[in-house]
Amino acid sequence: MNNGSVNTNLIGGAWITAPAVIQNINPSDLSDIVGEYGHSEEQQVLEAVAAANTVSEKWADSTPQERFNVLDGIGTEILARKEEIGNLLAREEGKTLPEGIGETNRAGQIFKFYAGEALRLAGEKIPSIRPGVDVEITRQPIGVVGIITPWNFPIAIPAWKIAPAICYGNAVVFKPAELAPGCGWILADILSRSGLPEGVFNMVCGSGTTVGKAITEHPDVAGVSFTGSQAVGHLIAMKCVERKAKIQLEMGGKNPLVVLDDADLDVAVKIAVNGAYFSTGQRCTASSRLIVTEGIHDRFVDAVAESIKHLRVGNALDSETQIGPVVSEDQLNKILEYVEIGKNEGANLVWGGERLTRETEGFYQAPALFTETTPEMRINKEEIFGPVASVIRVKDYEEALSVANDTEFGLSAGICTSSLKYARDFQKRADAGMVMVNLPTAGVDYHVPFGGTKGSSYGSREQGSYAAEFYTTVKTTYIYS
Ligand code: NAD
Repeated sequence: MNNGSVNTNLIGGAWITAPAVIQNINPSDLSDIVGEYGHSEEQQVLEAVAAANTVSEKWADSTPQERFNVLDGIGTEILARKEEIGNLLAREEGKTLPEGIGETNRAGQIFKFYAGEALRLAGEKIPSIRPGVDVEITRQPIGVVGIITPWNFPIAIPAWKIAPAICYGNAVVFKPAELAPGCGWILADILSRSGLPEGVFNMVCGSGTTVGKAITEHPDVAGVSFTGSQAVGHLIAMKCVERKAKIQLEMGGKNPLVVLDDADLDVAVKIAVNGAYFSTGQRCTASSRLIVTEGIHDRFVDAVAESIKHLRVGNALDSETQIGPVVSEDQLNKILEYVEIGKNEGANLVWGGERLTRETEGFYQAPALFTETTPEMRINKEEIFGPVASVIRVKDYEEALSVANDTEFGLSAGICTSSLKYARDFQKRADAGMVMVNLPTAGVDYHVPFGGTKGSSYGSREQGSYAAEFYTTVKTTYIYS
């Protein structure tokens, strides 16, 4: 049990004070220090990996019932505390309170889902081509898994990696994002009281370049599951391939939302505004490119602009707020820079883009909408990761599809249409891991696979029963009797 301080790591079942601290600051109110969290060194990673290694075989031998009990209990506690944890999430990350509670709810449901999956572990028995021989195909845990997560979903992403890791019998060393470590720390506290044997789950807080690097390069870490930027994902991939560790990377997006002439205008506008601006646009699945056919273009642009003028940007904890602040000063500056880049590239800024001041000092920004943009502009090529969307005008469906696929990313792609023909064609030909028909590009279920193609993802899918692919190794056994 932790003594109440948050500048601690969980290593081998013990809460150990970190050598230094990182301040966790509320982006809605810079005078509010959420807490001082651990800033660890490589040594703490070495200790955590050693602790995980010591118990990984024991946990690999645990029964489905033991795994169910642990995962179900964690899910129950998260769900029971979703208002409190959602509040912390809103405070440290800047999502609105309902968004924070919603994300926490999702994390609880994920643990419940994998509790059920633990009871459904199965293999296959297949007749051999040789007489008297049986073939059995079973899944075994990979051992110690490193889990490295970003700040933008500080409880859901850790949950959707940690829950399957434990469900499939692995030990874990987890590093939360340094910008929003509070939810990760609470999750670790819940896990520490869940009945898991000490050392099966370890958390080391700190920077990516020290703690994340040490996890990635440790020879006893059998696999690394990472979500974050493309640049860091690439570094991790190179290191893991060098030492032949398993990798699963979920990286950025530049997600298209295609709006065809036959779309329901009101529905399309709601979907675009939700997908592009909610959660302050800080979602890897956000609709940052709105690709609109000529017949509906002007009406669509007018309606989106009108809608975002009325979005209430403010303190994440204020019940009136619809769009919270950007997570940090660096992120805000990066987004403001992209707004300038868009203007200089000749895009027409019809609304927003400027920094806003509110009662409390924070990183507020007016949602920005660009029109008259072209696919080759940097604002349509690079991930901005903020409340900025650009409209690309196209002639017809074929041009829309080709522009939608003209990106190095491939996470989520949406289409608004009343035509089954175009919806089905888009499902088949959109280069994306997830396709949304008359739904926002962001917002997914917790029990089905999540992930992308091209530069957005690498390795096997996350979530649902498909997560078994990363967290287990397949063994084929031949038995002659
Ligand atoms: P980031 O890549 O900067 O950091 C992600 C994590 O990696 C953090 O915990 C960080 O400390 C760690 N890290 C940094 N350098 C490292 C290194 N050298 N070695 C090991 N670990 C290191 O990303 P971010 O700014 O936290 O998150 C935003 C990015 O995440 C965006 O690009 C967004 O699209 C992406 N994202 C993707 C998904 C998805 O599922 N595709 C989901 C959410 C966020």
